[in-house]
Amino acid sequence: MPGFELFGAEEKKEVNDVLETGIYMRYGFDGPRKGIWKAKELEQALCERFNVKYAQLTSSGTTALTTAMAALGIGAGDEVIMPTFTFVASFEAVLSVGATPVLVDVDDTLTLAPAAVKAAVTPKTKAVMPVHMCGSMADMDALLDICREHKLLLLEDACQSTGATYKGKALGSIGHAGTFSFDFVKTITCAEGGAIITNDEAVYTKADAYSDHGHDHLGGADRGADGHPHLGFNFRISELHAAVGLAQIRKLDRFLAILRNNKEVLKSAMSEIPQVTFRRIPDEAGDSATHLSFFLPDADTARAATAAIKAAGLPAFYWFDNNWHYFRKWNHFKEGATLNPFAAPLAKAMEVYKTKEFPASDAIISRCISFPISLAWTDEELREKAGKLVNAVKSVL
Ligand SMILES: *Cc1c(COP(=O)(O)O)cnc(C)c1O
Repeated sequence: MPGFELFGAEEKKEVNDVLETGIYMRYGFDGPRKGIWKAKELEQALCERFNVKYAQLTSSGTTALTTAMAALGIGAGDEVIMPTFTFVASFEAVLSVGATPVLVDVDDTLTLAPAAVKAAVTPKTKAVMPVHMCGSMADMDALLDICREHKLLLLEDACQSTGATYKGKALGSIGHAGTFSFDFVKTITCAEGGAIITNDEAVYTKADAYSDHGHDHLGGADRGADGHPHLGFNFRISELHAAVGLAQIRKLDRFLAILRNNKEVLKSAMSEIPQVTFRRIPDEAGDSATHLSFFLPDADTARAATAAIKAAGLPAFYWFDNNWHYFRKWNHFKEGATLNPFAAPLAKAMEVYKTKEFPASDAIISRCISFPISLAWTDEELREKAGKLVNAVKSVL
């Protein structure tokens, strides 16, 4: 699944370049850094690999989302439509800019159901944020149509799907902006890090400044001479982290080839079980194949199958019981358990979650298991895992 499985000499070499100069900060120190600019180099590599004009690295996927929200002008009073199934970081970013997360149902793509998005649009809606979960994508054509019709921004949370494509375009590059996470368990990793990609120069310029205290980076070698067109935060990535990412992005195509091959083998083995159906993937060729996500007939069977898979010594995610990825267990969110109070209108808007239920999402997520696909298995291990997975699932049917 994640890039850390295939760390090696390449990552060490890139990090060593930075250790040699002793300049760990991505800005300034133009002389002593001796021409080593790993963050800039990685941003350039992201632009080339994902065919976008601009990329801005940040300290994490969460700060990439927060920065993207700010750069897109999303703030207090704005509603952001997002799915009930995602990592908590997605709503953390919405809340962090004072906007209102409007959760809507997912369908068998495991992300936004277009009809549910349509039904949730209000005069306050500013953006739609699909989350491309577990390596695969939302139904982007349907979401683009809705955004065009209602003049909404489309922000892709592609944190879990770096390298996946939809109809030939990189996930993250299709909406007004997209974000990646390079945390330790993601497809490629910087240890910690994230990025915003966009083709909109204004969005990029704002993201660049926002993620570095508002620095416009026009002061040359003297950071003290930079202007501050607007407020910002410190969401910078370090040169050490960017160096790791630089080695990793060069391996991305190799990672994708391994993952896709492994998924084929696993999926074809699982296809022999008539009770198993698979996640709908709007463009299956573009799946980054970090997971094989499938459905069982009901929640009890899915829960039992998860236990059987784990008992066989294999990993499995049963999101319905997981505290971090599905609305059902987000009690802190439902209760508005903040350390400091929400502004009054947001507090009022959040009240709805105290009692809100999502039966349509429950019906999908309670039957879903995601099997994480490793980069490091040998062919023999892959065949062995596929056999064990099939047997474990069959044992509960
Ligand atoms: C991991 C993740 C994030 C946040 O990334 P971090 O780098 O861990 O902050 C955001 N959204 C989703 C869907 C994620 O899986």
